[in-house]
Amino acid sequence: MSYEVHRKEALDACHGLAAYGLGSGIGGHVSVRVPGEELYFSNALDKTFEEMTLDDILLLDFEGRLVEGDRAISPGIGFHQGIYKLRPDCGAIVHTHGHWITAQSALGRPTRNLHNLCTYFHGHTAIAPDDDIEAIAPAMKDGDIAIIIPWHGAITMGQDIAEAAALHVTLDYACRLDIQVPQDAPIMPDDHAATIQGLLAKANYLQLTWDLMKRKAARAHDGQVIVPNVAA
Ligand SMILES: [Zn+2]
Repeated sequence: MSYEVHRKEALDACHGLAAYGLGSGIGGHVSVRVPGEELYFSNALDKTFEEMTLDDILLLDFEGRLVEGDRAISPGIGFHQGIYKLRPDCGAIVHTHGHWITAQSALGRPTRNLHNLCTYFHGHTAIAPDDDIEAIAPAMKDGDIAIIIPWHGAITMGQDIAEAAALHVTLDYACRLDIQVPQDAPIMPDDHAATIQGLLAKANYLQLTWDLMKRKAARAHDGQVIVPNVAA
C-alpha cells in the first residue's frame, strides 16, 4: 500500500533514536500518522528500539486498536491518537524514557534556555500531569512541540518524522544541559532567543539532524548491538 513508506519511517526513527542511546530498554514509542486516514504506525512493546524490524512496526487505528497482527503494544499508546485528533498539523510523535529526558521530567519543568538548540523548546513545551491524553490536552497550546511528563519522560511532535525525531534528540541534549549546568547560570534573553530561532529555521537544522540520525543508525545498528542507555 502507498502508505507503507510511513512504516519504514517509524523504523528508521527507532533505529536513529537507539543510536543516540534513547531506546535500549523496553518502553518508548514512535508513531507516524497515515495522511488522510484515522490510522498510524507505531512500534511493538516487546523489543528495544535497536532490535525493531519492519515486522515490529504495527498499524493502529484512532481507538488505539491494532489493525493488523496480534502483538503487545504499550498500555500508554493512547496519547498518540489523542494528539493526532487534537493537532491536525502533527504527523509524527516520539516518546522515550531517555536518561536526561527522564531526569528533566523529575524536575517537572521545561528546559532552561542555556544554548541555541534549547530555543526550539522555549515557550513551546507543555507540562502534563500524566500521560493520559485527557490530562495532556488542557496543558497543550497550539504550537507546542514537546510535552514533559513528570516522573516519566517526554513527548516530541512534528509535522513529519524527521521533525519529531530530530526534536527528540535535541530535547535530550537540552535536558542534559539543564541537568548539568548550575542553577545560577545566566539564561539566554528572549530577544536573543528569537534571533536564534530564526537562524535555526534557515539552517534547516532539524532535517540535517534527521539525516545524521539515519547515518548514525546505519553505523550503530545491526540488530545485535545494544547501544548504552546513557550515550557517552
Ligand atoms: Zn513512557
